[in-house]
Amino acid sequence: MYTNVAVRSVTLLLTCTLLSDAADWCYNRSSSDTCDDWGDHYPKCKGKSQSPINIDTHSTKVNRSLDNFMFEGYDEILSDVQMVNNGHTVQVLLNGKNLSVNGGGLDGEYIADQFHLHWGNRTAPGSEHQLNHAQLPMELHIVHHKASYGDLNDSLSKPDGLAVLGFWIDVGKQNTNFDQIVDKLHTIPNKEERANISNFKMADLLPSNCELQNYYRYHGSLTTPTCNEVVIWTMFETKIHLSQQQINTFSTAVMAEGDINLINIFRSVQPLNSRTVQHSQAQSLLLKKTIALLSYTHTHTHARTHARTHARTSYANKRTSL
Ligand SMILES: [Zn+2]
Repeated sequence: MYTNVAVRSVTLLLTCTLLSDAADWCYNRSSSDTCDDWGDHYPKCKGKSQSPINIDTHSTKVNRSLDNFMFEGYDEILSDVQMVNNGHTVQVLLNGKNLSVNGGGLDGEYIADQFHLHWGNRTAPGSEHQLNHAQLPMELHIVHHKASYGDLNDSLSKPDGLAVLGFWIDVGKQNTNFDQIVDKLHTIPNKEERANISNFKMADLLPSNCELQNYYRYHGSLTTPTCNEVVIWTMFETKIHLSQQQINTFSTAVMAEGDINLINIFRSVQPLNSRTVQHSQAQSLLLKKTIALLSYTHTHTHARTHARTHARTSYANKRTSL
């Protein structure tokens, strides 16, 4: 995930920190390069709670306090939203648009700052988090900071300062809700170029609300230097789908500094160490409730049908007998 370019004035320090050592990020790497030397320049990157990680779904633990998210402003039509090529990714700026999340096991409100994407290249996937050791084609991160801490910059020093909602992106049919974003990639091939996107809702870019009940949760870090361990990570089970052509456009239309295609923009997975990945209870509970409801409905419908049939029969018999 990236934290730069949220509010220019507020995050200037962070932006400078993140952009000044771009060469050390080791993006545009070859597949054999693990790029694990960030810690030499940024001590926090050597921490024990780093991101991204592989999520082994068989080792997750259900946490009953991981309830449903409440999304504020996600269903509002947004206009004049800036999308910027910052040389490391394409980022859509949401600050000032009054989008926030509550619930989802979070302690309080988190305000949305931006979302951005991670991708690979035309032939290799580029998600940051892995799912049972598989990398998905892309990953979308919506970065929020905790409202009570002030702004994004202030939140970077608090263990629960940021909440990032992450979505794996897989290959599927053309997703017309992403058309505007994908089409405008061609207008911002160079670093620092910006485009305006309008008339879209955040909710339209995501799976439907009821599909957002199932998610994974763990505590981790920024996935770019300076690797602060301040992120409450959520990875949703339901994936977003884009067509292969849409996915390819990211790695072919957008360039890093110096006319080099921006490809393979992801950090390698980091050790889980002593952390446990938690899972929301919605899936198991919903399944149990559905089974219980089906069982109840079947039993009672059968009983009522039987009773009604019996009553009609009795009434009919009476009429007949009259
Ligand atoms: Zn990211």
